[in-house]
Amino acid sequence: MRSGFQQKAPRRNTPSAESGERKTPRTLATALAEIGREFYSRGWALGTSGNFSAVLSRKPLRLMITPTGVDKGKLSPRQILVLDARGTPLQGSSSPSSDTALHLAIVRAHDAGAVLHTHSVWSTILSTEYIRQGGIWIEGYSMLKGLAGVHTHVHREWLPILDDCQDMTALAESVQRGLEQNPAAHGFLLRGHGLYAWGRDLPEAKRHVEILEFLLEVLGRRLSAGLGKPARG
Ligand SMILES: [Zn+2]
Repeated sequence: MRSGFQQKAPRRNTPSAESGERKTPRTLATALAEIGREFYSRGWALGTSGNFSAVLSRKPLRLMITPTGVDKGKLSPRQILVLDARGTPLQGSSSPSSDTALHLAIVRAHDAGAVLHTHSVWSTILSTEYIRQGGIWIEGYSMLKGLAGVHTHVHREWLPILDDCQDMTALAESVQRGLEQNPAAHGFLLRGHGLYAWGRDLPEAKRHVEILEFLLEVLGRRLSAGLGKPARG
């Protein structure tokens, strides 16, 4: 089976000037909690599913992330944890998301400022439907222009799909290798599971989730309506 990450393209998600807003633990925690509640309301992170993180500082690396096992519909800023570069909480008694290793791998591989993970219906269906192809080509949609570095709907976006794995260390290593081989990616799918997307900062990562979830729903509805897969899918 084709690896989910074989498309090589120029790197686009380079570190950037952050969005002007000063990042403090309070502002990031508030923004992460708002995103969690919003994604819950959209059906992308029901129950305790999904996890969300943002980089507080790079030297030393400090990552703010949602804890494991919390209802995303009731997420509050007080629940957000601050981790060191190894994923160890610097305060509080709750445990960070079990997917912390994946967030750290993405932050390092793409210099991402934020990483968001959703469990939508369409990402669950399509990541299973397209697993044999190792990913999904998406092209010809105006919404693609919402992805960083994309300026035309003619753009072809490759959304890789990785096999899911309960061994988070092994999965993080797999993700790390794949991200290094595919620096143009804006996100990837885990089979039968959901979407990971990132951005230079939290607003960009949120926009990427919205764009990719929209496009996945378009593709999923096309399949449901019997309109077939994308031409080169
Ligand atoms: Zn998940």
